[in-house]
Amino acid sequence: MPLDWSSIQEKWRRKWEEQKIFETEPDPSKKKYFVTVAYPYPNSPQHIGHGRTYTLADVHARYMRMQGYNVLFPMGFHYTGTPILAMSKRIAADDQELMDTFISIYKVPKEQVANFNEPINIARYFHNEIRQGMQEMGYSIDWRREFTTIDDVYTKFISWQFRKLREKGLVAQGSHPVGWCPNDGNPVSQHDTMGDVEPEFTEYTLVKFELDGYKIPTATLRPETVFGVTNLWINPDAEYLKVQVDGENWIISSKCADKLRFLNRAIAIQDKMKGRELVGKKFTVPLANRSVTMFPASFVEPADGTGIVMSVPAHAPYDYQALEDLKQSKSLLSSFGLGNDQLESVKPIVIIESEGYKDIPAFVVINKHGIKTQDDPKLEEATADLYSHEFYKGKMLSNTTLYAGMSVARARDEVKKSMVKQKLADTMLDLIKPVRCRCGAECVVKLLSDQWFINYSDANWKSLAHKCINSMHLMPDEIRSEFDYTVDWLKERACARKSGLGTRLPWDEEWIIESLSDSVIYMAYYIIAKYVTDGSLDGYRLNDSFFDYVLLGNGSTNEVAKSCNLSIDLVNRIRNEFEYFYPVDSRHSGRDLVPNHLTFFIFNHIAIFPESKWPKQIVVNGSVLMEGKKMSKSLGNIVPLRSAIRDHSADAIRVSMLVAAELLQDADFTLDAVKGIRDRLERIYNMCIQFKNKESTQLEQEDKWILSRLQHTVENTTVAMERLRVREALHNAIYAMDQHMQWYFKRADAKERNDDSISGVVRQVLGARVRMLAPFAPFISEEMWETLGNDKSVTLAGWPKVDESKFDYAADESEILIANLLADAQNIIKVTKIKPKKVFIYAAASWKWNIYSKILGMVMQGNTNFGEIMKTLVGDASTSKVKESPDMVKRMIDDILSDPLDSRERKVKLSLDEVKVLDDAKNLLAKELDAEIVIYNEDDQSKVDPKNKAKVARPYKPALFME
Ligand SMILES: [Zn+2]
Repeated sequence: MPLDWSSIQEKWRRKWEEQKIFETEPDPSKKKYFVTVAYPYPNSPQHIGHGRTYTLADVHARYMRMQGYNVLFPMGFHYTGTPILAMSKRIAADDQELMDTFISIYKVPKEQVANFNEPINIARYFHNEIRQGMQEMGYSIDWRREFTTIDDVYTKFISWQFRKLREKGLVAQGSHPVGWCPNDGNPVSQHDTMGDVEPEFTEYTLVKFELDGYKIPTATLRPETVFGVTNLWINPDAEYLKVQVDGENWIISSKCADKLRFLNRAIAIQDKMKGRELVGKKFTVPLANRSVTMFPASFVEPADGTGIVMSVPAHAPYDYQALEDLKQSKSLLSSFGLGNDQLESVKPIVIIESEGYKDIPAFVVINKHGIKTQDDPKLEEATADLYSHEFYKGKMLSNTTLYAGMSVARARDEVKKSMVKQKLADTMLDLIKPVRCRCGAECVVKLLSDQWFINYSDANWKSLAHKCINSMHLMPDEIRSEFDYTVDWLKERACARKSGLGTRLPWDEEWIIESLSDSVIYMAYYIIAKYVTDGSLDGYRLNDSFFDYVLLGNGSTNEVAKSCNLSIDLVNRIRNEFEYFYPVDSRHSGRDLVPNHLTFFIFNHIAIFPESKWPKQIVVNGSVLMEGKKMSKSLGNIVPLRSAIRDHSADAIRVSMLVAAELLQDADFTLDAVKGIRDRLERIYNMCIQFKNKESTQLEQEDKWILSRLQHTVENTTVAMERLRVREALHNAIYAMDQHMQWYFKRADAKERNDDSISGVVRQVLGARVRMLAPFAPFISEEMWETLGNDKSVTLAGWPKVDESKFDYAADESEILIANLLADAQNIIKVTKIKPKKVFIYAAASWKWNIYSKILGMVMQGNTNFGEIMKTLVGDASTSKVKESPDMVKRMIDDILSDPLDSRERKVKLSLDEVKVLDDAKNLLAKELDAEIVIYNEDDQSKVDPKNKAKVARPYKPALFME
């Protein structure tokens, strides 16, 4: 009968709730551990992709709880921002596409969607949906601390946060660039863009080429390469404008003119033209005093930069390849009235030297990447390679006038400064990569005036942020450089909008604090939220003195109690609870939040809290693929979490999300894997039912072995969990242990031991295994734990500890010996196709053990030289007989070297009675090889050895003969 997962899930959800297992109170006798995960934005149901981060955080919380910590794991809901507002407007306007998404992908009942013209209804609906999903997934959340970011007390808290930032001079009003949606007339950040990308922008240099009184600006990040320009590129079919920009005549794409307007440049249009009108014209190169020709290029995007590009084929792989491609299509050139000679005369001009790049650097790197055409996606990587190589290692050559001998890094600044000063260049802020708003409009950079900003440019603040990152535990550690990079890169950032849900800026109420600014210190609010839920606190009574005291310890209990009309006892309790639980011990989030949320989280904690309350750890994970593909609405492969739980069980989904990849890797979610995992869990559960509680009396060899394996597994799994290497932990606890169990049952079976005789041992193994599975598959683990005869939750049972007394190295090596021998024999049978009646096994003679142990000793001392080892052995009377068998010594050295280090260390302390070991497995060998097994010691004078095979036996390598 198939297992009824849904009733098991329901049973344990109810028990957890009744027993309040995850409701955490301060307990000074226990060490606390505070785990949080980025709260969800309720504008859609959670799907498999969201599940990974939350599941990982829950596994972490459950693991720490089993390690004896008093773990607080709470959850809130982030209502702030404009996306829900935009959705409700679309619903009100009868947007069919969005309705379809709600009804057919998100499975929202039709009558519900009708209410979605009110933004709050969308938020409430999905809030409820997500909470139920989290409960069904078994997340061990203290739900008494649930809140939304539009709750009264929360908005008081955020107002307090902003007054603090302002007091410290970190919020200011002014003109600053922001990512902007021209369609919505609002700043955009990651939450507002398609594909959830953070709009990153930078300052480009516009190098101005000249023709008949018109400047032709080209945008570049490498102004120093102006000395290597050989030609210009323009899109012949795109629209360009003759314009006056701040009084100077320019030719630029019409899209560029739009962008300049958002940057508050004064633009006056004079005339329109097609790009082709400039093809073949000659332009003067600034600083270099040469003239170059304009070539046609369909790859030039009018929206990038100015829509005209300078070509530096020696140092820009794209330019090099485009010129090569153009040489292959000469008819194109002639259609523009250009001769071959004009193209042939374009020769790359090398202006930078750097180690490892002889000749033309772009050519070298193109070859290295095997690039053949300009459409090759590898060009991007090649460009990035060369760009950073020359930036760090490059030096300007003698053909760069004043800059000769200068490092590229320095020349870049100097050339830019000098050209801007001489009006040979200008600058322009632009997005590094194109970004689209969720409404579909192409985003731009806008210089916004009167905007409220958080000043992440503040140098002192930045250096404290680096300090905090330095002292933090980051998992995995390789993410550290991304944080440092973000801290350096961040500039002033718009923190308020004119529309959306959220908290009003306390001193300028037409502004609403935006979603990446009201979500940075809310972890502290979880302490307060519990008292809002139980009715002790309300927004009406609270003022800043409350937050100053509870969160910072400023002021006095009496004053706060009086001014907020609260009891002294309550104020004390809240303050003590905050002191107990804060700081955050571990913050979980997806990798995509490193460049914004996670870094803001660090910045704002530093600004508001003393160092003792700064966060201790951040854990970052990669995304989830569905059957190898990115999840997207257009692919229709988004699986809502709740329906997946119904189909496959929460436990199997939890394990499959985590077993597929380590932290930063993308995890591939496949239905086959989910089914496989569910089957495995059911098999373990069935074992719990099968084996009754029995004392184990006398331990057999395989009993000692499986108990020793169990200690290794507990040890390795614990080490993996401490680093949150969950994939490794699961492989140890599930897959490796399954293999060990299989071998164990095979051994016991061959000896015809019944269930009663192995129950005691099997249950010891299961007891530890269930506890190792509990953080990952909590429902079935509880059920298993109960089946094993325990009456309390497995969460309270604690993580298994290594029992040193059960490590048994002789048993470890014995089973390896048997398994290897069996595999060797099976292999011989397969290769020779002989069907043996009898298999003779010869264990090595005792004098060989003596030699083996001497050699092992020497190898452990670092001596692996055959000649020297031989000399030592021959020089010793007790081992001098090896003179006649140098070949055996050679083999023993090889045997030892092919052993893993830990096995060598074990063997140093061991001397195995091989005959006894082999005798123990005689039945198994007979059964597996389907033959009579005869075992001798090589020393045995009466042994039967028709082919004289015994002499090749070595320690741990018995000799075989079959007939
Ligand atoms: Zn938009």
